[in-house]
Amino acid sequence: MGLLQRRTDRVPDLIEVEVREARAELLRLRAEVSRLQGALDSLPIGVVLVEEGGLVRTRNEAAKGFSGAGHGDILVLEAVDQHVQHALQGRVSGSSVELFGPPLKVIDVRAIPLRGGGALVAIEDVSERVRVDAVRTDFVANISHELKTPVGALAVLAETMIDEEDLEVVHRLATKAMHEALRAASSIDDLLELSRIELGGAALSEPVDVDQLLHDVAERLSESAEQHQIRIQREPVAQRLTAMGDRRQLVSALANLVDNAVKYSDAGGEVHLSASADGDRIAFVVRDHGIGIPARDLDRIFERFYRVDRARSRGTGGTGLGLAIVRHVASNHEGDVRVQSVEGEGSTFTMRAMAATA
Ligand code: ADP
Repeated sequence: MGLLQRRTDRVPDLIEVEVREARAELLRLRAEVSRLQGALDSLPIGVVLVEEGGLVRTRNEAAKGFSGAGHGDILVLEAVDQHVQHALQGRVSGSSVELFGPPLKVIDVRAIPLRGGGALVAIEDVSERVRVDAVRTDFVANISHELKTPVGALAVLAETMIDEEDLEVVHRLATKAMHEALRAASSIDDLLELSRIELGGAALSEPVDVDQLLHDVAERLSESAEQHQIRIQREPVAQRLTAMGDRRQLVSALANLVDNAVKYSDAGGEVHLSASADGDRIAFVVRDHGIGIPARDLDRIFERFYRVDRARSRGTGGTGLGLAIVRHVASNHEGDVRVQSVEGEGSTFTMRAMAATA
């Protein structure tokens, strides 16, 4: 009797221990689930987990972003539904949804069947990757075009010269050939400069005296300015300013800005070159009263090879790489470049670069 009594007394104890253990296990599992959900939510890719019957089991934060509010969202959700159906039948399925902007957006939707049943969907915004690919393809096509045109012209000019006996004509053709060769050389120089700047980052980080920098840039462009009958007005730097970075790159960027200002101004015009402190940056300003830039082109002029008007740039011997170089130099110096322009009135480019700490 005594023994039985003791045994039945211990049953509630054992149940209590088991319940306590089960509770602890439940808490541990809940914490694990919430940790996994947290990890899913921190993914930049949208993830949707679908049960065998087609019911959505879980959706991470990025997937919730496609709420179905806009037309684009609806297209993405339709693609998700379609691919889930395929994945539930055991097939991997996917497609890209293009949302014509601007800006153009490309969303990749992929669904895979899960081993234990159900499906997993990944929704990824690949717009940037698509844009970079397009830029790269354009870049190669542009380089080929840029170099093929003068080389083709050189071949034609040389061929014509072979049979030409009139010395005056030969002289004219040779002059043309020289200009074409210079154009090809200038494109190659710009390409080399751009790739050096892109690949190398800011090669040096040394104090650069701003007044001296402006002086050197104005010097470098003085001949071209004279040819175009433009006066480069270098405004005195109010205090002693020192930039921090790669002197050669800074000269190259500012020279490109001044070169453009000279090229796109009418004879008799003035180009202003100045610099001032702007917080922990130096702001370099190049201002002209030239032909200006149409508002619709302002966003694009810093892209490689972009020209507002190919005909007008060709006349001025441009390669379309100058402003791409400027943008890279600015970013290598923790700065940026901005433009304000009114067609027919002129343009102001402001490039900022890191200042040396006193
Ligand atoms: P480019 O070698 O053709 O001058 P850039 O990259 O330097 O190439 O400039 C891109 C385009 O921006 C030019 O083709 C030109 O149409 C326009 N642009 C740049 N600077 C100026 C300016 N100061 N005034 C007017 N147009 C400009």
